[in-house]
Amino acid sequence: VIRVVGVDLGGTKVQGVVLHGTEVKQDERVETPPGGPDAIVRAIVELVDSLGGTKHADAIGIGVPGAVDHHAGVVRRAPNLPDFGEDVPLASLVADALKVERVVLSNDVGAATVAEHHLGAAKGSDDVLTVFVGTGVGGGLVLGGHAVHGATGAAGEIGHTVVVDGGRPCGCGKSGHVESYAGRACIEREARRRHAAGEPTTLVELAGDGRMKSGVLAKALAEGDAMTIELLDEAVRALGAGIASAVALLDLSLVVVGGGVADKLGPAFVARIEEAVRSRLFLATSPVRVVAAALGDLSGAIGAALVATT
Ligand SMILES: [Zn+2]
Repeated sequence: VIRVVGVDLGGTKVQGVVLHGTEVKQDERVETPPGGPDAIVRAIVELVDSLGGTKHADAIGIGVPGAVDHHAGVVRRAPNLPDFGEDVPLASLVADALKVERVVLSNDVGAATVAEHHLGAAKGSDDVLTVFVGTGVGGGLVLGGHAVHGATGAAGEIGHTVVVDGGRPCGCGKSGHVESYAGRACIEREARRRHAAGEPTTLVELAGDGRMKSGVLAKALAEGDAMTIELLDEAVRALGAGIASAVALLDLSLVVVGGGVADKLGPAFVARIEEAVRSRLFLATSPVRVVAAALGDLSGAIGAALVATT
């Protein structure tokens, strides 16, 4: 059995799993420290130690929120990691610190897609889009049973497909993208803008001094807050439009929806997205289904480990 440690490097936490074959044996997490690559490498060492070290690990896989050169083992750009800079040779830094030979980097969403495809909700499906609705909206693509990367590694970025030309600003700097309406950070910005202009909402109060987390959206929705209902209607419409376009283009059989916002809003949110997709489908006979992701927030770490075994 191949034993691999998978690490998911996030903007707020670093999660790790020990994978024996296809079985998750252990999982742990630490906070993402400020201080750039050196601090991140120390956090990864601490995490791997808490998972029993590297004595029995054949490889380490690391999922990174950004642009990764998989073959060179270099993180080109990771704007969500504190003070990280550009062109960081993370694979060799971790290999030296932990004295392991094989360290494999992958993009975090790509890794989560591999995990859902091999072990999760998309197991057995060959033509799949994953959609992770969280702070932003990420996604990955599997066609003919193989992960698709595209010319620059950005294939599957459903969050940055255009649903309203010239529409609301997106986290990426452009506008009218799926993420502009469905990403948590964009929803928060719009809610605060409307609140500042005098529109009532419980969202701002519920968020307090912090970010408007996914749980805040779920709570305000449950309380029947009018602005929240409107903003989430718009999120569902944008996701329905973007996903229906992807289905028309690629003739997909399955769409897997995960991420922090989708987790907090639960099955009702995924069902609403499926309905929004279905009412916009080009082929009424399309077999496509929209289902919830199965591996939760461990999918990135599990996928990073799977990528390192192949
Ligand atoms: Zn965008």
